[in-house]
Amino acid sequence: MEIVVKNTTVSLVKGDITLEQTDAIVNAANSGLAGGGGVDGAIHRAGGPQIMEACRKIGGCPTGSAVITTGGNLKARFVIHAVGPVYHDGRHGEDKLLSGAYKASLELAVKHNLKSIVFPSISTGVYGYPVKQASEIALGTVLDFIKINNALSLVRFVLFSDSDLKVYEKTLERLIQG
Ligand code: ADP
Repeated sequence: MEIVVKNTTVSLVKGDITLEQTDAIVNAANSGLAGGGGVDGAIHRAGGPQIMEACRKIGGCPTGSAVITTGGNLKARFVIHAVGPVYHDGRHGEDKLLSGAYKASLELAVKHNLKSIVFPSISTGVYGYPVKQASEIALGTVLDFIKINNALSLVRFVLFSDSDLKVYEKTLERLIQG
């Protein structure tokens, strides 16, 4: 699915984010930038040790924020490491922190003059965020951002399963209607 909002194409696809050729791919990182399983492990495996070296120099990143490093051996030039929240019960500021992780990533991309950025579904794996709720935050934050900032030409989400892709598609349809 693909829509255009002002200057920016928003696209939703199923796939493996490590293969993306955009200016930046976003990692669902942890606050220690220490690597791990899931998409984090996949990005470090595909991108090589340069990315971890850069993460170690930075040292860490608060939940709800993001940092940028080289893309190492990836096709993408940069990796933006966004730290989403662990989901408890929705009453621990999870929505605000998840939105913050997306917004900080978009701001970093613009600050570095990047034109295209790809997100995974942050926090919905090991961190346990319900996918529907996370999709509303993710897409809502992106739409709010690109309505007032024209610098990005492409924001893509790469979902890892058909069911996640469907949830994101339904949410996007709903958000652009309302
Ligand atoms: P978190 O700890 O933020 O929950 P995870 O990596 O556990 O992060 O999961 C985030 C999402 O990334 C999940 O939907 C997971 O299925 C997905 N994912 C895992 N590997 C990849 C990949 N190579 N490309 C895109 N998405 C991926």
